[in-house]
Amino acid sequence: MTNFKNLAEFMAYFSNEKACKNYFEKIRFANGDFCVHCGHDKINRFKDGRYRCASCKQDFTIKTGTIFGESKLPLQKWFIAIYLLTTSKKGISSIELAEQVGVTQKTAWFMDHRIREALKQGGGKLFGEGIVEVDETYLGGKHVRKDGFKKKHAVMGMTERGGKIKAYAIPHRGTEVLLPTIKKHVSKKAFIMSDEARVYTKLPKLGYQHGSVKHGKKHWAHGNINTNSIESFWALFKRNYHGTYHSMSKKHLQKYIDEVAFRFNMRGEDIQALFDTATLKIAASGKLSYKTLTA
Ligand SMILES: [Zn+2]
Repeated sequence: MTNFKNLAEFMAYFSNEKACKNYFEKIRFANGDFCVHCGHDKINRFKDGRYRCASCKQDFTIKTGTIFGESKLPLQKWFIAIYLLTTSKKGISSIELAEQVGVTQKTAWFMDHRIREALKQGGGKLFGEGIVEVDETYLGGKHVRKDGFKKKHAVMGMTERGGKIKAYAIPHRGTEVLLPTIKKHVSKKAFIMSDEARVYTKLPKLGYQHGSVKHGKKHWAHGNINTNSIESFWALFKRNYHGTYHSMSKKHLQKYIDEVAFRFNMRGEDIQALFDTATLKIAASGKLSYKTLTA
């Protein structure tokens, strides 16, 4: 429906608010018109852009009920923020986003977190070609907090070789956390590759086939026995962390993971596919109020 391959074409396409609304209308009603209040499929359109449900008679706009609906920010500013957040390989700080979009840093931070929330990883299990790499890593540790503690956050990732990733912040790397996470996200048909951590030797008991590589000797890995896919995700994530975000609070860590995972899973796609996918997710996502975010 759209056609842009770079920022110049993107800006030309979304040169005014009407163009942004028309685009988002096509995205939101991709499966047909519906009332955002009651779900009824007959709505009337007014010239000023509002809709009125033929059944419950309530009015709404194309933004109502989405992350765009709770602020007076024009869609164009949101779209630029989405563009920057989904196409910047190293992520974008809220300071930079504020400058580029022309909003305060507080507003940029809010937009950032709302977009990340909408990009969050969905349910469903990984199937792929059968090989799923599983690994965990720690973030932080170099940063000494005000209270003197060095805070590290554990993150667990599962990726189809050469395919999609799922990654989650976890409270710790114990068996009682790692194994249920694998069971939840990885199909029993998968062949799991991991390092030689003892916890993973329990995988065959859960019904998985399992192979392991010796930790710290991964340069010896050859053929199929490696965890290179997941390590490329950790490398990407750490470039985002150290290069752009510097620190991530435990509370918001999952949202940053979701953001980087979105870009990782969309790698190789063109800008338009990235943007269409992100706005489709936003159209489908629920509300997240500023109150919830800062509570
Ligand atoms: Zn209705």
